[in-house]
Amino acid sequence: MAKYDYDLIAIGGGAGGLTASTFAGQSAAKTLLIEKEKKLGGDCLHYGCVPSKSLIKSAYIANAIRHSEKYGLPKVAMEAVDYSKVGKRIKDIIGVIQPHDEPEYIQDKYNVETQFGSPKFIDDHTIELNGKNITARYFVIATGSSAFIPPIEGIKEVDYITNVEIFSLEKLPESLVVIGAGPIGMEMAQSFYRLGSKVTVVETTDCILPREDKDISCYVHELLEKEGLEIVVNARVNKIEKNAGIIKITAEQEGETKVIETKSLLVSTGRKANIEGLDLEKAGVKFDRTIKVNNKMQTTKKHIYAVGDVAGGYQFTHVASYEAVVAIYNAILKIPKKTDYTKTPWCTYIDPEVASIGYNEQRAKEAGIDIIKHVEKLAHNDRALAEGETNGFIKILMDKKGKVIGVQIVGFHAGDLIAEWIPVLNGNGKLSLLTEAIHPYPTLSEINKNASVNYLVSTIPAWTKKLTKILFGYQGVV
Ligand SMILES: Cc1cc2nc3c(=O)[nH]c(=O)nc-3n(C[C@H](O)[C@H](O)[C@H](O)COP(=O)(O)OP(=O)(O)OC[C@H]3O[C@@H](n4cnc5c(N)ncnc54)[C@H](O)[C@@H]3O)c2cc1C
Repeated sequence: MAKYDYDLIAIGGGAGGLTASTFAGQSAAKTLLIEKEKKLGGDCLHYGCVPSKSLIKSAYIANAIRHSEKYGLPKVAMEAVDYSKVGKRIKDIIGVIQPHDEPEYIQDKYNVETQFGSPKFIDDHTIELNGKNITARYFVIATGSSAFIPPIEGIKEVDYITNVEIFSLEKLPESLVVIGAGPIGMEMAQSFYRLGSKVTVVETTDCILPREDKDISCYVHELLEKEGLEIVVNARVNKIEKNAGIIKITAEQEGETKVIETKSLLVSTGRKANIEGLDLEKAGVKFDRTIKVNNKMQTTKKHIYAVGDVAGGYQFTHVASYEAVVAIYNAILKIPKKTDYTKTPWCTYIDPEVASIGYNEQRAKEAGIDIIKHVEKLAHNDRALAEGETNGFIKILMDKKGKVIGVQIVGFHAGDLIAEWIPVLNGNGKLSLLTEAIHPYPTLSEINKNASVNYLVSTIPAWTKKLTKILFGYQGVV
């Protein structure tokens, strides 16, 4: 008889848990996936990536309709947005994806059994689930994160919303204050502004998206302000009250007191790891705000792994999946793998999008890497002109040997444009990979090639032109 009920139990049915369990299930491991909600899919499917990107599209179209004349079309008088219809579209899109995360589907396709409930560790090989003890040789904890609610005076007394409620509101907020100008806050702020809410963002730093380089965050900050969003910077909210349906937000801004009134309040001030109720102490798994892991994704108990948002680090769906793959290589396949985040791509889907891979200037400085930088504007791209989407630029960062170590793109579909840099950074990092490749005309992707060509041409020393002129008897100017 086997020593354990399962070879692997994954706790949490989001990106990390689904990837870990389905990979393990396909690798001959008897695998159980446990989810506390009624459906698999996690934040990304239900309260994160999928609903937010669907909302962003509705908002983009609303904005395009409002600016129809920009495209030579008649002016259109747009009716007020019925948010319940936007919410229905979001729900429908989730519904199309959901079948891929159904227990029957993952059982048939990946040999993974699913059970629903909230497990608690009894010891480092046993959990209790719905009154039954279940044992496993290995565990992957992938319970994700929830909105972090800062300890602001009065916040608990007002009915604020987070990423969980925002996609299923019954009607469009007349006014919305967003606390926190990170990716989630700004994607929501711009979307609701475009749908017709009066939006005010309150942020402690001086530009939105504070994790990006200043030239990027302040550039998109200005664009969004020009569009009409009110962004209150260098401001810390210290009191929230509600009277007669109005939420009053008091903030300190550079020594002055600022009061903002709103009907609705979105809190997007970061994330908190979902570790409550797991009884990690009983398993000997150490944690503080997140679960502590090493570069194999092992917790302080070597056979218990933690991946995704619950383990801190980069909080993206693709990172949760990447970490889950690393965990299963180590635990189940016994192939040693270590995480390497130096080539991690991501994108914030405001308009224009802000995408990044590898080092930015700030991270390169922190790592002590001297960089060469090449910047090119999207306005020089013919397709961007045709689309009427000329805001943005590409920034290529190289080390002193000319190897590409990071790229940031601000612009229309930047999240897709950055993908071309993934093989470049994961390969040998040579710009010639792009300069020698034919790109279709007219596409936005030409920005990647043209920026590379222009940089390489700028490095050709003048003497080589002189030599060419002399050698071949040319008549041109050097
Ligand atoms: C509004 C928003 C937009 C986002 N947009 C993007 C984006 O565009 N691109 C991107 O890459 N990332 C995006 N993210 C981040 C992304 O959603 C997360 O990084 C990703 O979901 C993390 O995956 P995970 O597996 O760690 O957690 P999750 O996907 O959240 O899965 C965790 C699962 O564990 C379950 N769980 C929790 N506690 C327990 C328990 N005790 N027992 C059993 N199950 C439990 C939860 O119910 C959940 O199903 C966004 C997030 C938000 C909030």
